[in-house]
Amino acid sequence: MELSGTLHSHLSTLNLSSPPYIGRLAPSPTGYLHLGHARTFYVAAERARVVGGRLLLRNDDLDATRFRLDFVEAMKEDLRWLGFAWEEPMTSQSQRLPLYRASLAQLHAAGLIFPCHRSRRDVLDAVSAPHEGGDNDEPVYPAHFRPPADAPLPPLDASFNCNWRFRVPDGETIAFMDALFGPQRAVAGRDFGDFLVWRKDDVPSYQFSCAVDDALMGITEVVRGADLIRSTFRQLLLIRALGHAAPSYCHCPLMLDDKGERLAKRHDALSLRTLRSQGVTPAEIIAKFSA
Ligand code: GLU
Repeated sequence: MELSGTLHSHLSTLNLSSPPYIGRLAPSPTGYLHLGHARTFYVAAERARVVGGRLLLRNDDLDATRFRLDFVEAMKEDLRWLGFAWEEPMTSQSQRLPLYRASLAQLHAAGLIFPCHRSRRDVLDAVSAPHEGGDNDEPVYPAHFRPPADAPLPPLDASFNCNWRFRVPDGETIAFMDALFGPQRAVAGRDFGDFLVWRKDDVPSYQFSCAVDDALMGITEVVRGADLIRSTFRQLLLIRALGHAAPSYCHCPLMLDDKGERLAKRHDALSLRTLRSQGVTPAEIIAKFSA
């Protein structure tokens, strides 16, 4: 199978004068890792290694409907097989609920979130433009669903079990410099709207848990797939609202298969497990990335 999605030399973009580097690998245990994950993690590990930085492993295991315990062990084994080393212990998001609750309380006290009783279907029905986002994206929340800014908020303790959304600063341009994709910008309220921070099943959203963790773990550079560039604008707003310093970002181009589709966990032929069972060595895999 021919793969594309070129990764240009990335090491020249590292800033050696910034504070001690702390990077992270943040897989979700929802399937076996494939070549695309391996390449992103290779970039993350290389960038940490070259500057003598630290590399942490975060297990993004909050999505109880898709998460499987055996995938946690499998992903660690696959990462070790490829030769990546991280600082133990691994951090599991499912163990950090008190931290997420405390950060949510901070946003609540600042009046930056609001409870939302609309379903995903309500939101989809109300938006006119077709929604093109990926897994972690959501349509722009309709302005007329949003409560007035001065409406009193119900207390949080009694309402962890409803959806809470972050009220975005309408019209503000959010910008960042990506190490590989260059300058990025999006306008709040136009390119993305009020987004979910807490789900009614009492679980933080991906955007929220990721922003809180990147801030509290002291991550200085986030290396991840380019499908998450659109998420970065939201996470930057959350990190700022919580009073933390923002990390730098390095999004890696997605690997595409011979039909031009991004590699997904369903591409079993390209899972590291399958390649390994066919006798492919870690060195052969890494050689593809560094070529
Ligand atoms: N766990 C997320 C995923 O596998 C990535 C999170 C991130 O790197 O921000 O899609």
